[in-house]
Amino acid sequence: MEDRPMNEKMSLCDGYGRVIDYLRISVTDRCNLRCFYCMPASGIPFLPHEKIFSYEELLRIADIFINLGIKKIRITGGEPLVRNDVLYFIDQLGSRRSLEELTLTTNGTLLAECAHDLYSAGIRRVNVSLDTLNRKRYERVVGVDCFPLVLHGIETARVHGMRIKLNVVAMKGVNDHEFSEFVRFGIEKNIDVRFIEVMPHSGNTDIARDMYISSDEIFNALHKRFSLRPAENAARSTTARSFSVGESGIKVGFISAISHPFCAHCNRVRLMADGNFRTCLFSDSGINLKKVIERGARDEEIETAIKTAVMQKPFQHRLATTASALIMHRIGG
Ligand code: SAM
Ligand code: SF4
Repeated sequence: MEDRPMNEKMSLCDGYGRVIDYLRISVTDRCNLRCFYCMPASGIPFLPHEKIFSYEELLRIADIFINLGIKKIRITGGEPLVRNDVLYFIDQLGSRRSLEELTLTTNGTLLAECAHDLYSAGIRRVNVSLDTLNRKRYERVVGVDCFPLVLHGIETARVHGMRIKLNVVAMKGVNDHEFSEFVRFGIEKNIDVRFIEVMPHSGNTDIARDMYISSDEIFNALHKRFSLRPAENAARSTTARSFSVGESGIKVGFISAISHPFCAHCNRVRLMADGNFRTCLFSDSGINLKKVIERGARDEEIETAIKTAVMQKPFQHRLATTASALIMHRIGG
């Protein structure tokens, strides 16, 4: 598809007037870790290769989204870096001139070996998921003893010039005594830290109920120890509340999907590896863009399918009633 000149770019709007300019692409449902709050302990049937987007299909869809006004793309998974040749795909996306930002969410295990290529592809900011700073506890959370590998990945990415943000899923009885330590770690390493409320899905309802801690509780605990003031340049459309920590230069954020959903300013949509297009983390648009491609649709038809789905983006998520439909390792957070 031809890249439209900037002045001809459209903007993608939903039925409530929200401009949608942020796309998350989950390139795989596979992962090399088994975080107990994300993947069902009973194991998961992974999608067969023929059911997931080829890179050719993904690049075609990404170009259509970019022409519709998407300015930021985040690559996620499963674990995105486990998919073969993902660096080729990221490099191709990085060459799209109209894309203002290309980012990545990863568990960090393969970050050290990929950091150089990621930087060359244009990745400047990476979110790394790390729920504890204790090696043994980390192994209990993710099922694999690879804490040093993740620290090494973070360090290597930093050395290559990438800005890191830690994603910390807050869990009572697991890491609730480590929140201050995370902020101190962030200050020491010049890394932003973001605490995420644990969200329920069909495989973790007990965990999500018993381990839930609200962002307010975390904020109140941190506020006693650190000077937190609302971050000045926090994007209005962000779904996280963000605070500057004293004069350290780092930010602490809170994603409160349960206690304070920021749906009113939501600017994002999600594409899953199997083609499912989600206009909200918690609801399926009912459109599978891989199937649309396989039917031989022209770019214009794909554009129309996307615009129609986006018009129906719900104003607010209904987490309580849709939790069973949330399969985080497929959607990518
Ligand atoms: N594998 C990559 C990683 O872990 O960063 C990317 C995919 S992972 C699904 C994206 C984010 O979703 C991670 O930060 C993870 O901690 C978060 N996540 C997974 N399950 C969650 C849940 N039930 N509640 C809240 N966050 C969750
Ligand atoms: Fe894998 Fe990320 Fe899910 Fe952990 S949170 S199991 S690393 S997809």
